[in-house]
Amino acid sequence: MIGIGVDIGGTFVKFFVMNEKREILEQVKVETDYAKGANGFIAQIADFINKAKQKYAPKQVVVAVGAPGDVDNEQGVLRYNPNLKFQQVDNWPMAQQIHDLTGILPVLGNDATLAAWGVYEAALQRQGTNILVVTLGTGVGGGLILNKDLYQGSSGTAGEIGHIKIADTQTGPVCGCGAHGCLEAFVGTIGIKRRVLESIKKQPDSVLAKCVHAQKDFKIAVVSQAAGQGCPEALKIWQDTGRYLGIGISNAVLLLNLDTVVLTGGVSGAAPYFMPALTHVLHEQQFKTPFERLKVMVSKDPNMGGIGAALYAIHCARKDRQPCA
Ligand SMILES: [Zn+2]
Repeated sequence: MIGIGVDIGGTFVKFFVMNEKREILEQVKVETDYAKGANGFIAQIADFINKAKQKYAPKQVVVAVGAPGDVDNEQGVLRYNPNLKFQQVDNWPMAQQIHDLTGILPVLGNDATLAAWGVYEAALQRQGTNILVVTLGTGVGGGLILNKDLYQGSSGTAGEIGHIKIADTQTGPVCGCGAHGCLEAFVGTIGIKRRVLESIKKQPDSVLAKCVHAQKDFKIAVVSQAAGQGCPEALKIWQDTGRYLGIGISNAVLLLNLDTVVLTGGVSGAAPYFMPALTHVLHEQQFKTPFERLKVMVSKDPNMGGIGAALYAIHCARKDRQPCA
């Protein structure tokens, strides 16, 4: 059996072709093509699938598609997405459209959710039973493996750890979702940037301020660059980030008694700076049992979305539940 994973992003679409031994047979990255509209975009995905179908015949080809935003995994519909710039694509029946053009009904899932499956199968080699994967970037997403299977919740939105509240919902900072006090408003790149700008205002002569001013566009790596030079303001930014993340993660651990938490995404590259503060929050919990066996890890592979989708397609087909809901 061959699994094709399609990881749809606002800028790029990644295709991964994998076999049942979890080997990558092909990987292709193309720019998200907006020129031909939503239908043209689906045709581009279908074209890749059809070519792979021919190439790997007579083997069975199964497909899963990870899409950003609010996904109805049971109906195969992308209900809403803020990142894809197609017009009028709310309630987009992606799975059915791909089926019409390829004859294969794909599994549709949220991109962070399928990336969590990739971490579980490829990075953890199925070690662990109850796992939270947190994707740290502009947005903060998440996916859950519970009892060794992907948990997508009652309507496909489980794992939205970025929008759990860790501050007052009236006075806390505003999140990309429009609410106040979300974890993402503190540890997403926009939240980190906000705290960097506040710090620069207070300490205009800091190494952090100089590093930021030397850049054309703000990149989060600059905070690590300044922290690497021992800048106390930059170290504080990462320390606070670790504390906020620790609060969010400890809430999830208390709720679900997880055994493993894996951090992934661009911001996880700064783990050496923020991890001590994060683990401190976990260690200072008064109810200790849920934290005793907890492992917190970092996975730096940026392809977990596509790999996870390909492997999840195979997983679903093996369990004979297409589409995997
Ligand atoms: Zn939010």
